[in-house]
Amino acid sequence: MALKYKSKINKIRTFALILVFAGMILMYIGLFFKQHEWLMVTLMILGTISIILSTVVYFWIGLLSTRTVSIICPSCEKPTKMLGRVDMCMHCDQPLTLDKNLEGKEFNEDYNSKKNNVEETHKM
Ligand SMILES: [Zn+2]
Repeated sequence: MALKYKSKINKIRTFALILVFAGMILMYIGLFFKQHEWLMVTLMILGTISIILSTVVYFWIGLLSTRTVSIICPSCEKPTKMLGRVDMCMHCDQPLTLDKNLEGKEFNEDYNSKKNNVEETHKM
């Protein structure tokens, strides 16, 4: 299975952008149902909820950004931000790690969630 990893912040940004577009499309579709008021209102409400959610997600990105570590990517030499112990470069998708123990290992996003397992393995 060839999973393509993306920088986490980029992923969340893409998600927020999809929500904005989904909201606009829903509202736009709603305009075609002027004769069916309940349907138009439902679509408008769904669209509004979607756009409000995207605002919340953008706010969340802002909060996450304060917890990221800014580094210079060793591969493309551009400044990038990483979140958690392993993340990808935002520009070239180079795997990055803050943990010396994981350096040179195959990239695995599980290292973020299975912290304890990894630490125990290294103690042995
Ligand atoms: Zn890079």
